Amino acid sequence: MSAEDYPDTFYARTLRERRAYPSLEEDLDIETLVIGGGLAGCATALDLAEHGHSVALVEARRIGWGASGRNGGFVSDGFPGGYPALVDRVGLERARELHKLARLGNLLLRERIERYNIACGPVQDGALRCNMAGQSKSLAEFCDFMARNFDAHYTHWRRERVNEALSTDRYADALFNPHTYAVQPLDLTCGLARACSDKGATLFEDTPVISLTSYGDRKEVRTARGRIRADRLVITCGGYVNGLQKTISDATVPIATFVMVTEPLGERLKKAIRVPYAISDIKVATNYYRPLADTRLLWGGRVLAWERSPADVARLLKRDMVSFYPDLSEARIEVAWGGMMPFTRHKLPVIGEIEPGIWFATGFGGLGLALTTTAGRLISGAIREADCTWRLFAEFGLPYAGGKLGKIPAQLVYWRHQLGAKFGFSQSA
Ligand SMILES: Cc1cc2nc3c(=O)[nH]c(=O)nc-3n(C[C@H](O)[C@H](O)[C@H](O)COP(=O)(O)OP(=O)(O)OC[C@H]3O[C@@H](n4cnc5c(N)ncnc54)[C@H](O)[C@@H]3O)c2cc1C
Repeated sequence: MSAEDYPDTFYARTLRERRAYPSLEEDLDIETLVIGGGLAGCATALDLAEHGHSVALVEARRIGWGASGRNGGFVSDGFPGGYPALVDRVGLERARELHKLARLGNLLLRERIERYNIACGPVQDGALRCNMAGQSKSLAEFCDFMARNFDAHYTHWRRERVNEALSTDRYADALFNPHTYAVQPLDLTCGLARACSDKGATLFEDTPVISLTSYGDRKEVRTARGRIRADRLVITCGGYVNGLQKTISDATVPIATFVMVTEPLGERLKKAIRVPYAISDIKVATNYYRPLADTRLLWGGRVLAWERSPADVARLLKRDMVSFYPDLSEARIEVAWGGMMPFTRHKLPVIGEIEPGIWFATGFGGLGLALTTTAGRLISGAIREADCTWRLFAEFGLPYAGGKLGKIPAQLVYWRHQLGAKFGFSQSA
């Protein structure tokens, strides 16, 4: 099994945590079957296996082949859309509970990285979230809001301090979040899968599920070359669900987003970015980037309804990077790629049960690293001990979003925001 089994990413080129799993060639009977070997699937299978539950996981391609093995690697404690919008939607008490669950995911993932000795480091601690220049609202207000309402303590950085840290004039102030950390996400996902397998879960790769059928209490799943009977299913196929389960497919719009990595930049990187943190800005389609240990710069951003070629991704993201850091205009881009994220109509993650015994977790958007861990814990708790905390996420519902057809309005909304950002009339906190 080699890096060629994955899309060409910096992570696949530097993968350390790889373990191969067989494809399913026969019939299997199991208590719980997890479909999809990304972070959500691995988190669910691991939580169940840690509690001695009988669980199998099937992945169509390779563990971490989807968004989980391609993302920016930022493990935040945020919520898609931001906490002020969440408070408006669900009220302060509910928002507090959801924030605690996002923190739980952030902390539990860190604990597992250490407990299972997952080689996804060096772990970068701390993140700077930067306000665009020209915005009248300071992030100090947001820091106060988070401290007052969520007991979350971020440090406000004034413009002068941001300028000392980053050699760009595109930012005003910033906030420093000590809880966010960054990791190599493909190693992370493969390391979690290794932990699942060591704890007794059965994993299969190259095993796409073709159909799902319910026979009362029992479920039957057909794969390319086998059949699985299970008491319950957990569907965690992210932006790659592709019609496998109609309700989930119709309620999520798969949207592409992109990452690139430069050549090692040596002193040029240190001149541009003088802090070791993960950095992002608060535009609607945020730019996010982080210096890597060998002086490369990893840069992510943009959302599009359709995937682009690696050459296009490199060109577009390099243009973004140079618009912030003109001194990096000569930097060579070594590799660029994209991945799909599923967005729900309300842009919030949903965890739930479509019918008795068919669980799902989807809609993590661009904030899935911590929240998929939360989802795994909540689904496992529901299965093992009928814990009902998952209902907090089920309440968002799965309204029809058009599935793949929903890409067209989503693209229009993004272009509107891009124009707004260009002419200075739109920004999201
Ligand atoms: C470019 C990019 C950058 C991002 N950056 C960040 C970031 O910095 N921080 C952050 O928190 N989040 C980020 N995200 C979002 C984050 O990666 C996702 O929210 C998270 O990985 C979702 O995990 P998942 O397990 O739900 O889905 P996925 O990782 O997409 O996994 C789904 C899996 O299901 C499998 N599958 C699909 N259909 C079948 C089938 N029929 N049978 C079997 N298996 C099937 C797929 O092959 C796939 O491996 C980013 C996403 C992208 C694309």
